[in-house]
Amino acid sequence: MAKPILLPLFSIPLIALDSTLWIARARAEEQLRDPLTGLPNRQWLLERIWTALDDAERIDARAALMLIDLDRFRSVNDTLGHLAGDRLLLQIADRLRVALPRGAEAARLGGDEFAVLLPVADSTTSATRVARNLVAALSSPLDLDGLTLVLEASAGVAVFPDHALDAEGLLRRADVAMYQAKRDRTGVEVYESKRDSNTPDRLGLLGDLRRALDAHEVELHYQPKVRFDGQVAGLEALVRWVHPERGKVPPDEFIAIAESSGLMPHLTEYVLETALGQVARWRAQGLFVPVAVNVSPRDVHTPGFAGSVAARLARHGVPAGALQLEITEHVLLEDPQRAADTLNGLTGHGVKMSLDDFGTGYSSLVHLRKLPVSELKIDRSFVARLAVDTEDAEIVRCTVDLAHSLGLLVVAEGVEDDETWERLRDLGCDAVQGWLVAAAMPPEETTAWLRARGSRGWQRPRAALPAATADDSGRIA
Ligand code: C2E
Ligand code: MG
Ligand code: MG
Repeated sequence: MAKPILLPLFSIPLIALDSTLWIARARAEEQLRDPLTGLPNRQWLLERIWTALDDAERIDARAALMLIDLDRFRSVNDTLGHLAGDRLLLQIADRLRVALPRGAEAARLGGDEFAVLLPVADSTTSATRVARNLVAALSSPLDLDGLTLVLEASAGVAVFPDHALDAEGLLRRADVAMYQAKRDRTGVEVYESKRDSNTPDRLGLLGDLRRALDAHEVELHYQPKVRFDGQVAGLEALVRWVHPERGKVPPDEFIAIAESSGLMPHLTEYVLETALGQVARWRAQGLFVPVAVNVSPRDVHTPGFAGSVAARLARHGVPAGALQLEITEHVLLEDPQRAADTLNGLTGHGVKMSLDDFGTGYSSLVHLRKLPVSELKIDRSFVARLAVDTEDAEIVRCTVDLAHSLGLLVVAEGVEDDETWERLRDLGCDAVQGWLVAAAMPPEETTAWLRARGSRGWQRPRAALPAATADDSGRIA
């Protein structure tokens, strides 16, 4: 008879225990939610990313994380007050929920910052597309008591396993990309290690580059620019670095590091010194070919740059006409007046200036009129599509015509096939550079190439050659 008496005695604490557990679970869940929007919070997100990455790894899939930040939220908050700000955030959260693709999960990280996790992403491109859709959904006008507001958003995308292998890493990299999108006002950016100045990886590479320059392990290769009659118009010096452990490091990558760290002037001096030494040797051997050296906007803004170039020319006994400097349009963006002064100083010494990668920046040909440049290089992104894209062909045609009316020579970069060569000739372009003619070659090979061409210049092979393949340095195998 003890049982019926004991049962209620046991059942009371069991119920109590159960409800305590339930409350504890609810509390824990509450702790993982943002009280304003009801979306999961940062803590939840971090845990969720961990499990998503485990799953993705198991099935060999990608996962993507995007961080989304509203662009002018703080000023709206300050102007209209926190209550209005909260109501806007609620609307934003609702839009995010509606616009989420299936399987995606959203969280609010705090303030005006949201995150979206795609536990399975097909590719970086598809994740970017999702981010663009979300940014577009958030950027359409919002209504606040009859007041119409447009809050634009910026998003950064980081993908597992391409950009990071753990949750914190993925979050940090999406954050880096998001700041890039905000700064460049591009809406969405994908993480790129070469633009991330903070990774230990980059710091390591910077130290290695400094040592490689001191040890003269950085090389210059030379790529010909030829006219349509085959005459060699010049050579472009392109820097090459083979890292002892990593192998070839793409110039874009280590130049970005040098630029953001103060090593750029040193690299430019090194390149100028090496190129002028080579020009002097070639001249001594009877090879009178001008060489173009790329200089960064940093160099052009360094006081005394023009004078130091002139002094270096004199030291090598090379006439200024044998040197050309390639600058990009970005030179003009920072401090146009100082850039113009330096460029005028350089041309005053007789150095020719060439405007590189034309079409990728913001300057128009109108700005060009004021610049002492004598050559314009059409960026290879236009040249590459010339034969298939009528719009690009039209851009090239207009650029050639306008450049000619300003008295500039036009060089097309990245010419890889016969068809493009012919189109460019028909459009009135003056010279081409690209793998069709030759990839950048080490100095000895360049010497042999120049000698073999002699006064006849470069001849386009008549018969169609088997498709050439090029490795990542652009060398044709
Ligand atoms: P850039 O000055 O526009 O140089 C042309 C780039 O196009 C080179 O890439 C070259 O290898 C590549 N290229 C040439 N022909 C073809 C082609 O037919 N098809 C394709 N797809 N690509 C072709 P690279 O050597 O990787 O250099 C990249 C950029 O790095 C250069 O672009 C230049 O901005 C910068 N750079 C290279 N060397 C130096 C340097 O010594 N100093 C500075 N400041 N920048 C340099
Ligand atoms: Mg160049
Ligand atoms: Mg270029």
